[in-house]
This record gives sequence, C-alpha cells and structure tokens, in this order.
Amino acid sequence: MSVIVETRCMMCGKKYQVDKEHPDFKKLEANPSVTFICDICNYRIRHESEEKQKEPKPM
Ligand SMILES: [Zn+2]
Repeated sequence: MSVIVETRCMMCGKKYQVDKEHPDFKKLEANPSVTFICDICNYRIRHESEEKQKEPKPM
C-alpha cells in the first residue's frame, strides 16, 4: 500500500507527491496545507543564506 500526499512547493509552485519515505511526510499527512518547500528550493534557500552569512571580505 502506498500512501501519497499531494502538496505544492510554496517557492516554485510546482506540485509534488510526497510518499512516506519523505522526511516531511508525517507533517504533511497531519496537515496537508502545511508549508512545503521542495528539495530544489530548499537547497537554493540554504545556499543563499550561507552566502549571506559569509562576512564580506575586507578590501
Ligand atoms: Zn520548489
């Protein structure tokens, strides 16, 4: 039996089907309208925030 929750990434608006292997599955199953961000956007956000955290190089 496969259980799939359909959700939408809040960043790119793409539809995703999350199965029980996904770390966010339980969260989405409990509340399908919970904020979901896909792996690609997740990576992008993480990467961008790391960039911002870098201290500017002294000139
Ligand atoms: Zn996305």
